Amino acid sequence: MSFDVEEWFQTAAVTAESAPGAFDGKRRRSPFLVDELVRFLNERGARATFFVLGDLLAAEPGIAGSILGSGHELACHGWGHQSLKEMNRASFREDIEKCLSLWDTLSLPRPSGYRAPSFSVTDGNSAWVAEELSSAGFLYDSSVFPVALIRYGIDNSPILPYELGDGARKVVELPLAISPFMGLRVPVAGGAWMRFTPLHLHSRLLRRAVCKGLIPVIYSHPWEYDVPFDGESGFSPVLRLRQGRGSGKRMWKALGRLLDRFESLPLMEIASAYPGRPESCKR
Ligand SMILES: [Zn+2]
Repeated sequence: MSFDVEEWFQTAAVTAESAPGAFDGKRRRSPFLVDELVRFLNERGARATFFVLGDLLAAEPGIAGSILGSGHELACHGWGHQSLKEMNRASFREDIEKCLSLWDTLSLPRPSGYRAPSFSVTDGNSAWVAEELSSAGFLYDSSVFPVALIRYGIDNSPILPYELGDGARKVVELPLAISPFMGLRVPVAGGAWMRFTPLHLHSRLLRRAVCKGLIPVIYSHPWEYDVPFDGESGFSPVLRLRQGRGSGKRMWKALGRLLDRFESLPLMEIASAYPGRPESCKR
């Protein structure tokens, strides 16, 4: 189980419809929401990975204590949620170094895991992304959707953990969850997939993935558990639907249902066991 910790106004969909700086000074909800998520996980004996944006952590460093203090994993979601498709190798390295520098300033244990904003690891950049992450000390990446979607995904990439990169320096890739169904790869990774799919169907698809030997990597965002996005003035109906539908109470219900039915591990434990499987996943 993983959470991408960012504010709702930092998503690619919102920034695409907003003027630069439109949300400067906007009150951040992540500290409160992360606390709520941590409490919810703890009550159920579940552990998870939180991929946190550098700029958010710099402004709200208490988030790290909340996550680490309960035995969850603090990992890296890049600095300011810029897509890797808009970066070259040098600017990606700068972005990562800026994050690691903050981690050091805050005396935090260096992160093992990285997730690219908007799942923007592609066929075109995966080789240098892997080399840069490995050089910076990362053990794993979890940014690849193994199915071609409109905005992201690498078609036909492995659905089990694999080594990302073709050079000497590689990282373990933990691809986002899909469920094999009638020859198709059905995304079941969480987030919008969790909000738009009936809960019982989502659980059944995940169960099918587990039965097929997969270790599904699930994600969602703290803002999806907040009061539903009500579409502040000026946003398109498509964005309001995409970002708001199913959020709030329904997401808490969905998360509870998942945690009742499946064990949740920090992703680091899956990556550390590669090419084997974590003990609890051998049953
Ligand atoms: Zn994100």
